[in-house]
Amino acid sequence: MNSIQIGGLVSFTTIDYPGKLAAVLFLVGCPFHCEYCSNRHLIETGAGEYDPEKVFDWLKSRVGKLEAVVFSGGEALLHETALYDYMRRVRDLGFSIGLHTNGFYPNRLSKAADLIDWIGLDYKATKANYEKLTGVNIAYDQMIQSLDVWKKTGKPCEVRVTCDPRFVSVDDLVAIAHDVASRGIKDFAVQRYVPHFEDEKNRTSAAARNAFFENDSVRGEINSLFENVIWRE
Ligand code: SF4
Repeated sequence: MNSIQIGGLVSFTTIDYPGKLAAVLFLVGCPFHCEYCSNRHLIETGAGEYDPEKVFDWLKSRVGKLEAVVFSGGEALLHETALYDYMRRVRDLGFSIGLHTNGFYPNRLSKAADLIDWIGLDYKATKANYEKLTGVNIAYDQMIQSLDVWKKTGKPCEVRVTCDPRFVSVDDLVAIAHDVASRGIKDFAVQRYVPHFEDEKNRTSAAARNAFFENDSVRGEINSLFENVIWRE
C-alpha cells in the first residue's frame, strides 16, 4: 500500500480532538467486524473516494483555521508506513495529530507514537465478550497492549466504551472503568449505542440502552475514578 486510502472526511469539528478545531480523515479498512459498526462502508479496503494529495492541498489551505487533524476509520494504523508518511507531512504543516484507534496494532502505534499527540482508544467490552463483538480472538489482548504502549508515551488519551447492551452490561462498564483507571488513564468516555443496523432477532430495547446513563450510583462511581468523564448521551 503506497498511499493512504481516504473514504470519508469531516472538514470541521469541535468534538473529535479535545479542545481543538479539527478535521477528521476516515481511512479505509478495518480488521474487525463489529456488529454495531456505523462505518461499514469503510471496513473493506479498496480505492478511497478522496484523492490523498487533493486532501493534503486542502489541508494546506486550512493552516491557521484548523488546529488538528484526526485520523480515524476503519482503523487508520492498517495503512502502516503510508500513514506515518502522511501524518508526518500533515504534522509539518503545524497541525496537532490525533488518532482514533481500535487498538489492534500496538507495534504500529509504538512506531507512530512520535507523530501523534493524542489518541482516542476503543475499549469495546470485557475480555469475555471481545471476540463475540469484534470477530477477532486476540483483539482484547492487542487493545490492552496498545493502551500500555500509549501510557508509556505520557501523552493524553481518551478511552471510550460504546454501550451496546448486547455486548456490555452495566456491571461490565463499571469493571472496564476500574481497569482503565488502574492503568493511570485520566480521560474516559461513555458513549450511547445507537441502533443503526439491528436485525429482528437481535434487537435492543431503549430501556437497556438507557440503563448505562440513568444509574446515579454508577455515574458517581465512574466519575470518581477519572479526572474527566464524558457521558456522550
Ligand atoms: S473497529 Fe470501528 S470501524 Fe472497525 S468494525 Fe469496529 S466499529 Fe467498525
